[in-house]
Amino acid sequence: MPETPDDILGDAGYAAIELVGRTGASNLEIGYLHDGVPIEAAGWWAHAQYKGARITAEDHTSPAAALEALARRLLTGAKCTHCRGLVALTDRGALAYATSTLVDGTPWNVDQARQAGQCRWQRVGRTWKRGCE
Ligand SMILES: [Zn+2]
Repeated sequence: MPETPDDILGDAGYAAIELVGRTGASNLEIGYLHDGVPIEAAGWWAHAQYKGARITAEDHTSPAAALEALARRLLTGAKCTHCRGLVALTDRGALAYATSTLVDGTPWNVDQARQAGQCRWQRVGRTWKRGCE
């Protein structure tokens, strides 16, 4: 039976594609490294291209897993565009990088992130929802 895009991407994949679009990426690519192996061993990757930055997730077992990892990487240490808080992906709290720039090139260091408060993001079905919604 042929697989539909829904089977291949799953909710996580759709949510990631929507998130990448919302973050202003100019390009999103998905691919794999190895031919002639089981699909889960193909080494799936996903790249999101921004002005001056490329965010990648590599070596995953499916397109959906690569996209989910890319979404989490984009959100880790990021600033919520709505409340300007530091994005937290778990209830244990957010992770900020000591020195960092946002994907739009704005500097965003750990002190700024600490002062910003936190915004707990989670994936609900096909959408990443912000905590301040
Ligand atoms: Zn927020």
